[in-house]
Amino acid sequence: MEHVARGRNYIDGRWEEGDGTALEVRDPATGDVVALVPDSTEQDVDRAVSAARRAWNSWRWVNPTVRAGYLHAAGDALAAAKVQVAAAITREMGKPIPEATGEVEKLAKTFHFYAEEATRITGATLPNEEDGFTSLVEKEPIGVVAAITPWNYPVELIGWKLCAALAAGCTIVVKPSEYTPSAAIEVFRCLEAVELPAGVANLVTGAGATGRALVAHPAISKVAFTGSAATGEAIFKTVSGVKPLSMELGGNCPLIVTARADIDQAVAGALRRSFRNAGQICIAINRAYVHADLYEEFVQRLAKAAEGLVVGDGLREDDVDVGPVTNVEILERCERHVADARSKGARVLVGGARPGDRPVGNYYLPTVLADCTQDMQVMHEETFGPVIGVSPYDDLESAIELANSTPAGLAAYVYSEDLSEVFALGRRLDFGSVAVNNVDAGTINAPYGGRKGSGFGYEHGREGMEGYLQMKHVRVRHRS
Ligand code: ADP
Repeated sequence: MEHVARGRNYIDGRWEEGDGTALEVRDPATGDVVALVPDSTEQDVDRAVSAARRAWNSWRWVNPTVRAGYLHAAGDALAAAKVQVAAAITREMGKPIPEATGEVEKLAKTFHFYAEEATRITGATLPNEEDGFTSLVEKEPIGVVAAITPWNYPVELIGWKLCAALAAGCTIVVKPSEYTPSAAIEVFRCLEAVELPAGVANLVTGAGATGRALVAHPAISKVAFTGSAATGEAIFKTVSGVKPLSMELGGNCPLIVTARADIDQAVAGALRRSFRNAGQICIAINRAYVHADLYEEFVQRLAKAAEGLVVGDGLREDDVDVGPVTNVEILERCERHVADARSKGARVLVGGARPGDRPVGNYYLPTVLADCTQDMQVMHEETFGPVIGVSPYDDLESAIELANSTPAGLAAYVYSEDLSEVFALGRRLDFGSVAVNNVDAGTINAPYGGRKGSGFGYEHGREGMEGYLQMKHVRVRHRS
């Protein structure tokens, strides 16, 4: 039995026990309880929001270079703490330690990126129709942000919101996923270490009801959410009053491999983006449409590569490629999607089951399903696990239509060496991001966001910070 960590809320610059009961957090590789954290109540949430509201009155006027200084220092503190932050991630959600470490390193860079953006919040001066007037357009912070985050990237998905909001001059209350609170606590330890002023960033742990209390709080100015479509819809209905929201609601992302693709690269890309993080990423490749000329070779090579991936306990074993999935719901959804595809005629080339030698833990084998049709769940619903469905196509028009045919609009992938295909696909795929001949759809300095059923609003880049700013027009009559 492992040591059980005791987590606390971080409110107004202090660590607090919650008013409510404790929430158990489990290791997906063993099923053991590894942490107890507050299942925060409405009163806890109210204290956090009130602290953030008070802090906003001063933080909003803090010089941007000073805000930048805190963010740079926190980025350095996070990089220095990466070993324990990564362990906290892996212990609660299962990704192998090197992937968890990479996540922490990327978040440290995000702190530095938004530190720099903080000093570049600029407005405009506009000429007026009448002499003697000048219009100033200024950008001001929105106020107190409620950030609700999921478990698949437990620190990055907090960080994109936290860094951008703080850079903009907002204050924030974060409610991390109930599956991964300890990693969030580690990030807040870094904020404490750099003496971020009390109340600027607050953390309340808890389950859905805590999130509901937070988004319903009347003193919240903006809600930033990443999670499932169902919860996004619930939040939409819960917010009090009228206020800006940003929502990133998941994927079911397609890959198109054209007849002119470099098949080596396409197989490597599909392998990485279907099975990294055990497929638990909104921008995972869930479904692939491959030109008939390359199809059989593609599926056979992808299946062989998937078979070579090492499934294991990412915390206690070395060289693991695919850890356990984070919770039983994901495991069951993988099973459901595979059973559905099988019953409708798909070939299970590899995987399609839990590994026989691992009776304990939420393990599922990397799975390649060939000969899929669009009516199979794997081709039109997000699996969020290590499963890919592949379908052959003859004419590119039909592949584009199928790729665009689901409610998902987050990211799409293309492999083609033909410039006109690349441009046609880049423009016609109805997704917020299209990655061509690579599978890293998100980079920190470019806007990242969904459309259609995948939500609205942007993270990353300058656009990620703009979402925490509001404009003000100051029209000055100066006569001369
Ligand atoms: P996922 O399984 O992708 O994490 P969820 O959408 O269930 O999806 O959870 C994302 C985050 O939303 C978590 O922090 C969760 O606790 C929170 N949450 C769940 N239900 C609600 C709700 N009704 N209102 C606000 N937050 C919620």
